Amino acid sequence: MFKKKQQLLELLKIHFGYGSFLPGQELAIDNILAGRNTVVVLPTGGGKSMIYQLPALILEGTTIVISPLIALMKDQVDSLERVGIPATFINSSISPEEASRRMAKVSRGEFKLIYIAPERFYNIQFLGELKKIKVSLFAIDEAHCISQWGHDFRPSFLRLKEAVKIVGNPPVVALTATATPEVRDDIARQLEFKDHETIVTGFSRPNLQFAVIPTPNSQKIESIVNFLVTNPDLGSGVIYVGTRNKADEILERLVENDIKAVSYHAGMDASSRSWVQDQFLKDEARVVVATNAFGMGINKKDIRFVIHHDLPGTIEAYYQEAGRAGRDGKPSFCLLFYNQQDRYLREFFIKGDNPDPKIILEVYEFLVSRADSFINPKDSILITYAEIGQNLSEQTPEMAIGTALKILERSGYISRPNEKTSNSFLKTKRPWSEVINSISKRAKMQLEVVLGLAEKYLDKLTEGWEFNPEEVAVVLGLKKDSILRTIKKLAESDLVEYQPPFRGTEIKLLKILASEDLEIDFKALKEKASRSYEKLDEMEGYAYTLDCRQNYILKYFGDHNSPDCGKCDSCLKLARQKKKNGEDYRYKEYLD
Ligand code: ADP
Repeated sequence: MFKKKQQLLELLKIHFGYGSFLPGQELAIDNILAGRNTVVVLPTGGGKSMIYQLPALILEGTTIVISPLIALMKDQVDSLERVGIPATFINSSISPEEASRRMAKVSRGEFKLIYIAPERFYNIQFLGELKKIKVSLFAIDEAHCISQWGHDFRPSFLRLKEAVKIVGNPPVVALTATATPEVRDDIARQLEFKDHETIVTGFSRPNLQFAVIPTPNSQKIESIVNFLVTNPDLGSGVIYVGTRNKADEILERLVENDIKAVSYHAGMDASSRSWVQDQFLKDEARVVVATNAFGMGINKKDIRFVIHHDLPGTIEAYYQEAGRAGRDGKPSFCLLFYNQQDRYLREFFIKGDNPDPKIILEVYEFLVSRADSFINPKDSILITYAEIGQNLSEQTPEMAIGTALKILERSGYISRPNEKTSNSFLKTKRPWSEVINSISKRAKMQLEVVLGLAEKYLDKLTEGWEFNPEEVAVVLGLKKDSILRTIKKLAESDLVEYQPPFRGTEIKLLKILASEDLEIDFKALKEKASRSYEKLDEMEGYAYTLDCRQNYILKYFGDHNSPDCGKCDSCLKLARQKKKNGEDYRYKEYLD
């Protein structure tokens, strides 16, 4: 069998000029040569092409390479030809006559590799021509395009499992850089692999030092500011937060401590956002305090730290955000300030994103009941979320009502020509101490509200403050209703100026049915919600793990073979314990 390491290395050297394999390449090639279907997940630049190019040279017949990136095919073929490997491509950039000519050559065995665009498999004549060729290996590049869970689904990829059958079921290798476990499993499911290997490697980031710092919520900001003040030479970084209000709050504290900082969130207009990015890129600002809207397309390689003030919802999100640190390969820190209450904020978002089926049906029933009173039921209804909320059988956050409307819209039952939203507004007319004194000592809940507002938002209250009551309720750990009731009472006593939020929408009913006749895929919605909770559990597991943090993440992505990182807080704790016990210990270099 041609799979001795030495022979593979010789071919690698002769044809491509490389002296060794990159992580994962050899294992994947071994699998392919043993005839096993293989899913390969390697990061961009990890050397995926080699995984089918080298076997293509060894195996008898032609290797088919499917790629959606038509623009790159010619370059790939040219560079193969340059190293003496006969290859060609078939896509929409060549004429039908030229395609037939190339296919005739392929059937005579004149090429070792042929690159094909997936759309070709819609063409019956082409499928006939395919039957004539001896295919040694079927390689699918950018294989995540087959999965509807992924970010780049392409229906033409769904044809590929038929194409594999047409060419006589050769071994299949599916390659992607998308590491989420569900996309990976979906690739194997969509290709109907009965038995396959998955190889995931190369995602480790050896220059990143991970740590979780358990901190009570009331002390998080102070700890973060302290960390930055005591490490003035650390360089620049990002602080990720869960809410916009928190971003503003931290920004203020940083500026008070003479740390040059800017904040970034999706609610800012495009020009402010690009100004903020620019300040950070040019090192005019040392820190960006940001929600998860920040980061896509940020090409700053020397980010020395990424701090998370709140628990992210998934490991994918965390690794993507934390992974923005140290892209220049130099030592960098990824710190998560964690408190067990952090879960509530995440659950609040999950609930808002995944309303109960009962809520969706009740929202629809209410809209139908409103439409009944119109002369023309297809007139649009202008309505606030709060009004919808008052007509539901249980108290429902407005975010969940918004999602219920989105689901009804996606399923074709309503349309929403206009969405109108604005936050609540609060401004104090008297000094806040007077506001606090106005409240009877026996009104405990009201006192808690005004004291909580004073602690978290005092400066804003004097300037005039736009806020989202649901978010504030989570931050203060109080009920939204208690907060709003207290504020209304203060407004009645003329101590504050208050404008309630408007979150409304113009709705057109497209179909009027009994709610039990609605066809909505509730099973899929339920699965989506439980996946979100599972992912949150995995993320929380990261905060609690006593094992190597880098390895916890790699295992989540399916890489079970990486050594411990040796420098995260878990690894260092273990090393310290061993040192104390007089045992032999590793990672000495990081201990002090
Ligand atoms: P991917 O498709 O995973 O993004 P490529 O296949 O384009 O990555 O490979 C990235 C780069 O790595 C290419 O320049 C390729 O020639 C190079 N490369 C591939 N295998 C090796 C190897 N074994 N040693 C060194 N460089 C390699």
